[in-house]
Parts: sequence; structure tokens; C-alpha cells
Amino acid sequence: MPANPLPEISPDTLAVVAGRPARGPGSELNTPVSLTSTYVGGGSIGDGDLGYGRFGNPTWEALETALGALEGGSARTFASGMAAVAAALHLVPAEATVLVPHGAYNGTHAVLDLLAQQGRVRVARVDVTDVEDVRAGLAAAAGPLLLWLESPTNPLLEVADLAALASAGHEHGALVVVDNTFATPLLQRPLDLGADVVVHSVTKFLSGHSDVVLGAVVTRSEELLAHLVRHRTLHGAIPGPVEAFLALRGLRTLPLRLERSQRSAAELARRLREHPAVARVRHPSLPDDPGHELARRQMSGFGALVSIEVAGGAAAADAVVDAVRLWVPATSLGGVESLIERRRRHAGEPRVVPEELLRLSVGVEDVEDLWADLSQALDAARGRIAGAR
Ligand code: PLP
Repeated sequence: MPANPLPEISPDTLAVVAGRPARGPGSELNTPVSLTSTYVGGGSIGDGDLGYGRFGNPTWEALETALGALEGGSARTFASGMAAVAAALHLVPAEATVLVPHGAYNGTHAVLDLLAQQGRVRVARVDVTDVEDVRAGLAAAAGPLLLWLESPTNPLLEVADLAALASAGHEHGALVVVDNTFATPLLQRPLDLGADVVVHSVTKFLSGHSDVVLGAVVTRSEELLAHLVRHRTLHGAIPGPVEAFLALRGLRTLPLRLERSQRSAAELARRLREHPAVARVRHPSLPDDPGHELARRQMSGFGALVSIEVAGGAAAADAVVDAVRLWVPATSLGGVESLIERRRRHAGEPRVVPEELLRLSVGVEDVEDLWADLSQALDAARGRIAGAR
């Protein structure tokens, strides 16, 4: 099946129809879970012959077709988002300099720090909300370059001008990679904005039900795709077929889930701003959010993550997490259930993330129930902190 069977249809429809088996009388509507470690072969392995379970699997391919169609490139799935991140980082030779946002996902920082300690890459941290800062970083860096972008960033929700940054990166010969986990291809398509590679934690919105760990890389370059496939085959971070099936099943409802979640996120952000226990709300939907204007131009929605800074510091933020009953205190994001987490509880969280920041992943529950629980938890925490004084 071609990467995008019906290129003129909307992404919402594509999420439903892409990656289905060829249509015909008696054909299955869904690609089944293909549980096999090998394939019956003949002489040499030719085109279309998967050969062995580490080389390919029809269930992965169904998910890859759908993801590729949504992002506008060719997708390959990996065992986790981090496996996808690692594969993308291997696209540049040893001794390359990787420019990464100050506030990127902590796992990306951790793997880059490890590679830097091993002398495999150099790492430079840049402010991705400031194109001039990134330009200066590119100009100052030596050797092959990789510009790593996230937008909105995790968990500061800063918005980066992907088109301007991709073009600045290319002027300096950098490979430009965008982690599109937070936005998903329904809200922004980085390859259209000039990026060379898109990375996803499929674990999050794309799968959407907190029951799968999976990753993906997408590109339009045949050469990069060949490197990525070779990396996956040789390093072995392959997806499980059951996970691939579940992820594709989840992807079918992404437009509906995202529509509801981001509507609720914007409503909660608006209300949270008025709450006396909240010192700052970060969500690009807010008219005075630093990323608002750019997000309006670059994205087709503001996303379902909201970050708040609780008045009273880390103890007050922890008290909020302790007091919620409907929101789930847990890491991760992008599922149907709403999660809340103080990010600095992770030792590896970048220091630019305030101690009192809570990341809220807004699910698909009724927004009034979400607000009732959150506001009672904020009130309770405020009372506890005031009582302790
Ligand atoms: N990228 C981002 C933005 C993430 O938030 C995460 C996980 O939280 C990852 C990558 C890593 O994905 P995974 O947990 O699926 O390995």
C-alpha cells in the first residue's frame, strides 16, 4: 500500500483509514497481530520478503503506514520513544555537536549527557524560543551538527519557531530533528516546516491509552531511512507486534481524543489563572503566553498539556498531588486519563524547570469533574501550607 493512500483527505480521516489491509471481499478490516519470529523463505531475501522477525513485521508496517501518512513521510517504529531518540541521534557521526533545548525531555538530556561522557558527541544547550541564540550556538559549534528541537517543550511548553530554526540549522549544514510527541501530527507537521526527521514517543497521544510503550521516527529522506532501519535491525530495539496493534488501534481515535483534551486543557488553563494557589499557568492557548502568537501560526491547536507553578513552592505542589482524587499522580502523558506530576521529583529533570511546576496531562474526562477535583486539591494544599506557617 502506498504511504498515503488518499492524499487529498483530511488528517482526521487519514487517522481512521491509513494502514488498513488492501480492501477486497472477505479481507480483514484490521491488520492482525503477526506473532512470528521468522518467515518461510526460499533462496535469497528479496523485496517484500521480511526474512526474520527483527527485520520487519506486518503489524509494525500497518502502524508505520498510518504514522507516515499523518506526518507526510516514511515512518519506522521502535521499541520505545527512547529507542527512537537513540536511533535519530545515531544519524550523525561520532564527535558531532548536538544542540538541544535547555528544557527538553529529561530522557533526551540523559542520553546526550551519557554520549558526551563517552566522548561520542558534544552537547550545546540553546534557547529554542530565540532563533538568534540558536544561530549563535550553530555558528559556535564544531564538526557535524544536529539541531534537536521539541515544540512545545516538555514540560515548560515553550514554543519554537520550527520553520525559522530548520532553515537556520540547514544554513549551517545541521541535521534537524523534531520531537513531535507533544503536538502530534494533527497539530503540527515538522517535515512540512523543513525538519529532516521527526521523532515520537508513540507511548503518549498516538497510542492514547497508557497501555503501550513504543516509539517512531519519520523522514522523507531515503538515505536517512536506510540508516534508521539498519540501526533498528542491528541494535534490535524493535517494537512488539501486540504493542504495534494497540498503538494503531489507539491512533484511530486520536482526532477525537485530542479535540476533547485540548479543549478541556484550554478551559482549565483559563480557570487556573484565576486560582489564588497558582502563581503561573503555562499553556499556549493563553493570549499572554509567550508562545501564543507563534503557536497560532504554527499549530492547528494548542495541545493537551498544561503546566502550573504552585504558589508556596515544591511542598505546596506536592500537597496538590497528594490531594487529587480523580487526577492520577503519575508520570507520562497523552492518555485518556488525566495525569498530574511534579516534574522536579525526577533527579534528572533540567534545572530550568521550576521546583513547584506541576505538569498536567489533560485526558478525556468531563472538564467539570477535572476542575472540581483540581480546584479542591489546590484549595486543600493552600489550607495545609497556610496552616503549617
Ligand atoms: N520524547 C518526549 C517528549 C517524551 O515526553 C518522552 C517520554 O516521556 C520520550 C520522548 C521518550 O519516550 P518513551 O517513554 O516512549 O521511551
